[in-house]
Amino acid sequence: MPVLRRAGGPDAAGELRRGGRPAKSRHPRLARSRRAEPLSRLRAAGGRRPLAATAIAGAARADAARAEGFGYLHAFVNEGRVAGASLQHSHSQLVWLRDAPPAAAGEAPGGLRDLVRRGRETELEVTHRADVIAFCHPAGRLPYEMAIASKEELAPWPDGATLVVALEVLREAVQRLQRVEGLVPWNAWLHQGRDWHIELVPRLATLAGIELGAGIYVNTVAPEDAAAALRSAEAD
Ligand SMILES: [Zn+2]
Repeated sequence: MPVLRRAGGPDAAGELRRGGRPAKSRHPRLARSRRAEPLSRLRAAGGRRPLAATAIAGAARADAARAEGFGYLHAFVNEGRVAGASLQHSHSQLVWLRDAPPAAAGEAPGGLRDLVRRGRETELEVTHRADVIAFCHPAGRLPYEMAIASKEELAPWPDGATLVVALEVLREAVQRLQRVEGLVPWNAWLHQGRDWHIELVPRLATLAGIELGAGIYVNTVAPEDAAAALRSAEAD
C-alpha cells in the first residue's frame, strides 16, 4: 500500500488546499450544463458533435472572459453524487476568474513535461489519440487519478481541434475506468498555465483528516497497476 505524498511537485495537493487569497470570480456558476447522458456514454458517432460543440463553446467563452479582463476560465465536470452532481448526469461548469487559482498557479513550471515523459517512458500510459495522451499520475491522490495532456505541444489553452481530441480521450478514460470499477463518481478539470492539461480524479475513496488536514494522500492502488487495468479494459 504505497503512501504517496505530493509535496511541492507539479499538480501538488493545492487543489484541496485552503488559504491564500480568495479567488475573485465573476459568478460562481457562469455556465452550467446538465447532460442528458453521462459524458462516458456519448458514443463516437453521436458524441463527437456534442464534444466539439462543448469545445467551441468553451473556447468562445474563454475569449469573451479575457476580453472582459478575466484572465482564467476554470472549466470542470462533476459526475456522480459524491463528486457534486446527480447520479445520472454530468455537470460541466465554467467559472471566470481574474487570476489563475492557487491550484493552477502553484504548479511547477515545466513540471508537466516531466510527468508526460514519465508517463510515456514507464507503464503509466492508459491511451492516446493524435497528440493527446492519458496516463496515470505517478503520485495520484486517489486510485486511478489520471492526467491528459499534449505529448509535445506547449500551449496554455488547447486549440479547438486539440480540445475536441482531449475531451474524446477524457471520455475514453472514464469509460475504461467504469469498466474496471463500475459507475464511480469523478471530477475532472482543465488547468491552464504554461502547459494545459486535464486532471481526472475518480472519487473512489473518502477524503478524511489526513488528506484534508495534512495534505497527505493514501493511495491504495499503485499507478502502474491502475494503468495496466485501464489499458486492459475495453472502451467504445
Ligand atoms: Zn494541474
